[in-house]
Amino acid sequence: MKKIVVAIDGPAGAGKSTIAKLVAEKLGYAYIDTGAMYRSVAWKFLQTGKAFDEDFISGLSQTMVIEFRPEAKVNRVFVDGVEVTDAIRSTEVTAIVSKVAAIGAVREAMVDQQRRMGESGGVLMDGRDIGTVVFPNAQLKIFLTASVEERAMRRYKELVAKGEQVDLEQLQKDIASRDKQDSERAISPLRQAEDALLLDTSDMDINQVTEKIMQLVQERAQ
Ligand code: C5P
Repeated sequence: MKKIVVAIDGPAGAGKSTIAKLVAEKLGYAYIDTGAMYRSVAWKFLQTGKAFDEDFISGLSQTMVIEFRPEAKVNRVFVDGVEVTDAIRSTEVTAIVSKVAAIGAVREAMVDQQRRMGESGGVLMDGRDIGTVVFPNAQLKIFLTASVEERAMRRYKELVAKGEQVDLEQLQKDIASRDKQDSERAISPLRQAEDALLLDTSDMDINQVTEKIMQLVQERAQ
C-alpha cells in the first residue's frame, strides 16, 4: 500500500490531534501537529517578555528549532532543546497564538518546515491550512468540525479530568474568538478545501471518527 499525505483541518477543539494521533499510530504514519508549531513560536515570544512586534516574532520563528519526539502516550515538543509539551498549552499561549499565527513571515517559516516533514508521505498533518496551502495535493483531505458547544464541552471535560478549574462559558467564548480570528485572517485563513471531506463529529465518538478516517486512508492508499 502507498504511504499518502493526509491533511486534517478544522477549528479549535474539533478533536483533530486526538484522532490524527490515533490513526497515525494504527497505520504506522508520522503525526505532525502544526498547531504545536505556532504555539511554540508564541511560547518563545512570551519567554522574551517583549511587547508584541511582528518583525521581532518573525525573526524568532526563522531561527528557532522545533522538534517533535513522539512517545506512546504523548507527542513531546522541544524548542531549541527545551521541552515545551505542556507549556505550549497554557492559557497565556492559547490567548496569543492566533495573533502570532496571522503573521505572514511566521507562516512562511512554519509551512517550509511542514512541507519538508511531509514530503515523503506516510504522514498525517493537522492544522488550519494543510489542505489549502501546505499540501494542496494531499491524497486525502478531511475537514473535521463540531459545534462550538460540543467542542467547548470536550475541552471542559479534558481540563476537569486534569484537575483544573474551568468555566464552560469562558471556554466557549475563547473557542469562538479563536475560530473568528483564524477564519478572518488575511493569510491562509481556516477554510475547508474544495476537495476536502467534511466530517461533523458532534454526534460521533472517538472510535467512530477514527474508524471512518482509517477506512478513507485505506481506500485512497490503494
Ligand atoms: O490546533 P491548535 O488549536 O493547537 O492551534 C493553535 C493555533 O495555531 C490556531 O488557533 C491557529 O491560530 C494556529 N494554527 C494555524 N495554522 C495551522 C495550525 C494552527 O494558524 N496549520
